[in-house]
Amino acid sequence: MEHIRCLIIGSGPAGYTAAIYASRANLNPVLYAGIQPGGQLTTTTDIENFPGYPEGINGTEMMEQLRKQAERFGADLRSGIVTGADLSKAPYRITIDGETELETDTLIIATGASAKYLGLEDEAKYAGMGVSACATCDGFFYRGKNVAVVGGGDTACEEALYLSSLAKQVYLIVRKNYLRASQVMQDRVMNTPNIKVLFEHNTLGLFGDNGVEGAHLVKRKGEPDEEKVDIAIDGFFLAIGHKPNSDVFKKYLETDEVGYIKTVAGTPKTNIPGVYAAGDVADPIYRQAVTAAGSGCKAAIEAERYLSEHGL
Ligand code: NDP
Repeated sequence: MEHIRCLIIGSGPAGYTAAIYASRANLNPVLYAGIQPGGQLTTTTDIENFPGYPEGINGTEMMEQLRKQAERFGADLRSGIVTGADLSKAPYRITIDGETELETDTLIIATGASAKYLGLEDEAKYAGMGVSACATCDGFFYRGKNVAVVGGGDTACEEALYLSSLAKQVYLIVRKNYLRASQVMQDRVMNTPNIKVLFEHNTLGLFGDNGVEGAHLVKRKGEPDEEKVDIAIDGFFLAIGHKPNSDVFKKYLETDEVGYIKTVAGTPKTNIPGVYAAGDVADPIYRQAVTAAGSGCKAAIEAERYLSEHGL
């Protein structure tokens, strides 16, 4: 069985930053890219808040640069998905793609988070036929059409604004009577003529013969004046938050009720020595590219210390 000193799982800013630091520290890191190589930033447009890019940078391009930077220092970058983990004792055993088994002295989990869905049967029925969780990936297909975005946070507002420049009409379906998004995003949404905010609306289902043609909504659900409303849409975009990709490690690692891996405050240390969590998988609060990169750096430094303390 292949023995690795430092195994990194995930290829977002946390994973690649860990790989850059670990390779420069001669830990010979191996990184598995996971389901979405490059992570969530590859599904966004421009990143304007990462320090060092005064003009902003395209998300895919930034991740490509991070990948090249990790490669330059010798990180072994591989494609593959972690399907199993045995963290009961060191060295830790990891299964890739259901077949390859590896053992590693240190493990950096940087598996990120994935978009959440409402859980409606119709979301699966119309997957790839009008249902999407990424406006910047799929918005292009809805030029001149009508779309809906579900959610009231910054992501939902950002997606609605993005779509408003492509689509004819954008509905923002918000379950409460207010938006949770930051004031600046709320103002932008409210001042965009082709975005209509449907406060206090929930989605019951979708309809359409060849893909999504509309959504069944309910207004003021459970109230005496509850009302069923249908809207005609071609695209239905989810923007209701994310779920951390920690399931495969849950048996061994402490997580919060949502599944975010718990770490010792201010560090990427988990409850298992030599196992670290970096980036969105352990961050329910900040979830930024720059904070993910910072925690990836910390994880690699901790891995280096652990290996040298244990003579590995
Ligand atoms: P949030 O958790 O902030 O918001 C999720 C939204 O989805 C809420 O309005 C929530 O409603 C709604 N929602 C959740 N579940 C359901 C459901 N089952 N049915 C209907 N609506 C639902 O997630 P975001 O992804 O928007 O943001 C995550 C973090 O990232 C935040 O801290 C945000 O500020 C940050 N961010 C910052 C950006 C920026 O600065 N440019 C861009 C994007 C994100 P309710 O309010 O009722 O709970």
